[in-house]
Amino acid sequence: MVELSYMNNQNETIDRYCECGVFGRNAAVDRAQGVLTLPRTDPKGCGQDLVYNRNASSPPDWIALVKRGNCTFSEKILAARRQGAAAVVIYNGDGTGNSTTHMSHPEAPNVVAIMIGNYQGMEILKLLQNGTEVQMIIEVGSPHGPWMDTYWLYFLSIAFFIVTTASIAYFVFISANRLYNLRVHRRAERQLKSEAKKAIKRLEVRTLKRGDEETASENFLCAVCIEPYKVGDVVTVLTCDHIFHKACIEPWLLERRTCPMCKCDILKALGVEEESKDYGTRPEVTVVTVAGGDAMYEVPLTDTARPPTYDDRSFEEEPTRG
Ligand SMILES: [Zn+2]
Ligand SMILES: [Zn+2]
Repeated sequence: MVELSYMNNQNETIDRYCECGVFGRNAAVDRAQGVLTLPRTDPKGCGQDLVYNRNASSPPDWIALVKRGNCTFSEKILAARRQGAAAVVIYNGDGTGNSTTHMSHPEAPNVVAIMIGNYQGMEILKLLQNGTEVQMIIEVGSPHGPWMDTYWLYFLSIAFFIVTTASIAYFVFISANRLYNLRVHRRAERQLKSEAKKAIKRLEVRTLKRGDEETASENFLCAVCIEPYKVGDVVTVLTCDHIFHKACIEPWLLERRTCPMCKCDILKALGVEEESKDYGTRPEVTVVTVAGGDAMYEVPLTDTARPPTYDDRSFEEEPTRG
């Protein structure tokens, strides 16, 4: 904590307080107070024979203000201590704004030494050069600063890296999973279609003749196209004895493999499914597992347990005969 107080041109006392100084790595973390004083010659406070701007009438407690650069922090601090400074304030180099660094000064330990930003340093410098007396009080603030910053940055970077990596890995896993499922599903669909084709070939096909009961009444309708049967219509008889137009039922069976009226499964009824399984044409199933865990998923290739779905709800009920 840095507190500055001085008189401005209007003879008003200006008091400023900020959390803007950082103790050096080897500094005594302690309170210090005094009049800010510049070196007489080198503003960077270097050199063996450095002298500070003091005379017999100067107040006894003073704090050295020097700029960063030209020599080590230790040299600057030692030179100021030799002259009797209570503390040393080093302001950062040009172009660094108000940033500070965590000074290392192993050859000059146990001295109250802080770094302040360049802007603040230059501001004080101007006041001092105008002959203003600036008092500074250095107080120990809350324990944070470059040490914490560095390690926090470290910790945050690592945490960020882990989170990012985990997210990407998860995303890749999910995508691969979806792609795999889709492929298995498509393969299963193709398989079922070819089985349905085989089954369709085995179904009885009739051409309706005059005198057939289906043509006798308008009440006999093809449940797919809702049209009454006419003489000469080619119809397919399913294993459940329900009949439909051949042209109507074949695309339906390719997609759904069940009778639109009674939901009977033609693959099961004709035993086509069993046969194709025996021939070993089933595509292989890969079970993806996580080490030490249970099987994550297993995709059934022919989910015969799934009830048939209809786009048109009317197929789920017997057509009304009136
Ligand atoms: Zn029809
Ligand atoms: Zn049927």
